[in-house]
Parts: sequence; C-alpha cells; structure tokens
Amino acid sequence: MKVKRVITPPLAANAYIAGDVMIDCGGDAEFILRYLSENGLIKKVRTLLLTHAHFDHAGAYFALQGIGAKVAIHADELEIAKSNPMAYGMLLFTPVEPDIVLKGGEVLDLGIKLKVIHTPGHSPGSVCYYDADRKWLFSGDTVFAGGGFGRVDFPGGDAAKLISSLKKLTELDVEVLYPGHDEVVEDNADREIVKAYEIARRVLF
Ligand SMILES: [Zn+2]
Repeated sequence: MKVKRVITPPLAANAYIAGDVMIDCGGDAEFILRYLSENGLIKKVRTLLLTHAHFDHAGAYFALQGIGAKVAIHADELEIAKSNPMAYGMLLFTPVEPDIVLKGGEVLDLGIKLKVIHTPGHSPGSVCYYDADRKWLFSGDTVFAGGGFGRVDFPGGDAAKLISSLKKLTELDVEVLYPGHDEVVEDNADREIVKAYEIARRVLF
C-alpha cells in the first residue's frame, strides 16, 4: 500500500490517503474535492480520520461527508470545537459533526488496520493513528520530523499532557512518520520521536 500525501490550503497541513482511508483533509473544501476528482478518488475514499479539529486539518470535513465518507474524531475534541475559541483573530477549531466518535485504544479495520492513540497536549482530543504491522504513525500536530512537536499555547493546549503523549509514542515501534505538517520521515522515525520527547521535556517546563 502506498500513502499519498496532499499538501492542503490554507496552512499547508498534510492530508494522507492510504487505500480507502483519508487522514485529515485540510481547510479548503473546493481544493480537496478537486484533488480527489482529478485523481479518480471521489468514490474511493470511504473514511476520513481526523487527528484533531483545528481548521487547517479538519475544515473541509463536510466535503468528505458530501461524497459519502464517514468522519471520525476523538470525543474530547467535540466540546472545545463547539465553543471554538479564537487564536490570532481566527476561529481555531472546526465544529465537526462526526459519524464516528473515537475514545482511544480502539483498532479500526479499514483495509488498513489503525490503532487510535489518544495524544492530548496540542489539543484535548488530538490522536495519532498507528499501523503496527507496517510501523507507520500518522501523528497530526503531536510530533514532527526532526524532533519537532506541536505547540501548546493555543486554547485547549497543555504542556504536561503533550509530554506524556510524546512519552507514550516513544513506546511504539515506528519506522515511518506521517506528520500533520512538513516532511515525512521515511525510516527510523523512532529516533525523531525520542528526540521530540527529550526536547519537549526540557523546554516545556
Ligand atoms: Zn493543530
């Protein structure tokens, strides 16, 4: 199985397509529908898994429901997304109305088997999706290439929780990291996660 990466407007969040599953969709409905249409994927994508409800990752979710895909997000993201606090004069969250509410720990069998790992810190209901067979981790804004990690200064962010979440991720066997922004880590992603955990522990306290 090959993973397609789509860099989406307006803030260059990564969306990924793996088989029938899409992970995050960006914030521009017209853009993502045009992409899916031009690549013959309109009838292919059946499920949209959101890593969190920030508008740059989730804003276009309704377009996916419009083409018949089921949308999943963690329960802890729903309340804050409804109250939708502002950051930098913008509404930070998309009030998602999901078809599937996740609680963390479940394994979704969608042609690709993905374990839902609740990783709060960047936002209350942030999750990572882990394929244990392939050692792939779709990490949203929790961890990035090069030991980067998500910011915790937005409403709903929590430094101590982010550190615990990163620690939880260091316990996984990860080869390939598919983060919510910037480049994919093609091998030995374990090391980047440990680095992120160690840096976060030093700078967030
Ligand atoms: Zn975010």
